[in-house]
Amino acid sequence: EPLLEVADLVKRYGETLAVDRVSFRLARGESLGLVGESGAGKSTIARLVARFADADAGAIRFEGTDIAAVSHRRFHAAPERRRIQLVFQDPGESLDPRRTAFETLADPLARMDRLRGSDLDGRIAELAGQVRLDRALLDRRPHELSQGQMARVGIARALALRPKLLVLDEPTASLDVSVQAEILALLDGLRRDLGLSMLFVSHDLAVVRRICDRALVLRRGRIVEEGPCGRLFDAP
Ligand code: ADP
Ligand code: ADP
Repeated sequence: EPLLEVADLVKRYGETLAVDRVSFRLARGESLGLVGESGAGKSTIARLVARFADADAGAIRFEGTDIAAVSHRRFHAAPERRRIQLVFQDPGESLDPRRTAFETLADPLARMDRLRGSDLDGRIAELAGQVRLDRALLDRRPHELSQGQMARVGIARALALRPKLLVLDEPTASLDVSVQAEILALLDGLRRDLGLSMLFVSHDLAVVRRICDRALVLRRGRIVEEGPCGRLFDAP
């Protein structure tokens, strides 16, 4: 059984059909790209799968359970909640400016895993190591961190609850090219070391080719092409 199976997913915003009967599967360990021009529906699919929004129709089966059947407001209590985590486009936006990196990571660990004291410290140190964030930076707030360091905190936040699937919405789009390469290398390593699966949204084909095995091409809410990245993007 695939890790994720999306079937006939539909999402409307008023008159706009943002997602128009989209179906795809994501295998365990796979990194699947979601590409297409701006407005194609990529982010909407990412947010539906990570359960930040509710679909109008269709199924999102995660390890066989239809998680689209639960409204996103109730989904936080579902056991699948921690297995799917979103990495946001702009870490500067998703991170609370008042919280230190330590506090950002401590929040889900304390609330969901009930970690305290040295267990909490130990897990946060482990996460910092996984994203190659110097532990001395854990006491800093977002504005005291570089772009790349902020991105690492955002990724560590997503990893905190030991997800199986990371949904990444243009995670490198706001980064300088050199930082982008570092973050892509990090994600590639995490995927291998932690056995993560990834749904990777990007408008940048070079990025998708670097990080994904296979990709779906979206246009106006529909999948118009799909296949291995090699075949899709290196055609003569
Ligand atoms: P992409 O990520 O490929 O750029 P989006 O998923 O952001 O595409 O958008 C798909 C379509 O849905 C676009 O036409 C967009 O304008 C529309 N849309 C997205 N979010 C909203 C929203 N919150 N309200 C109204 N329309 C939206
Ligand atoms: P609860 O709903 O019980 O407060 P959640 O686990 O649903 O707990 O998460 C609380 C908030 O954490 C959500 O509103 C969500 O916006 C935010 N959050 C921060 N980072 C992430 C992430 N990487 N993936 C999913 N949610 C996240």
